[in-house]
Amino acid sequence: MSLTFAIIKPDAVERKLTGEILKRAEAAGLTVVALRRLHMTLAQAEGFYIEHKERPFFGDLTGYMSSGPSVVAVLSGANAQPAWRTLMGATNPADADEGTIRKELAVDLEKNSVHGSDSETSAAREISYFFSELDIV
Ligand code: UDP
Ligand code: MG
Repeated sequence: MSLTFAIIKPDAVERKLTGEILKRAEAAGLTVVALRRLHMTLAQAEGFYIEHKERPFFGDLTGYMSSGPSVVAVLSGANAQPAWRTLMGATNPADADEGTIRKELAVDLEKNSVHGSDSETSAAREISYFFSELDIV
């Protein structure tokens, strides 16, 4: 069993897709072991996406991620990190496989509904950015 970090992004929370997205994670065998709704500040979004600081989309992305409530979660399961990325689909919903969350639910490249850690190292950093060890049960 391993852990990964997920965000249901503001576009999906606003459209009341939280339950739909968590249902897909659970249906795929993942367990929601921590869950919280929050409204990120711009500074929190900038810290979370620090790896993208030099990218042209950084300002728009962090503005969007702090534009409304999102839901952050820790998912547990066999190979949770790649398993959740597979369920999410490609970053750009136009390139995402049929049946993936981004293909079926995302709005566009930026408002792509979900986040998932891209490696085990990222998962550890991202989980600890939003949760304490005591939150994970
Ligand atoms: N993003 C964007 N424009 C781009 C690439 C990414 O707005 O050209 C946004 C999008 O919301 C994406 C996030 O920035 O999910 C982080 O980008 P990354 O390349 O890490 O994609 P992900 O890991 O989320 O698939
Ligand atoms: Mg990423």
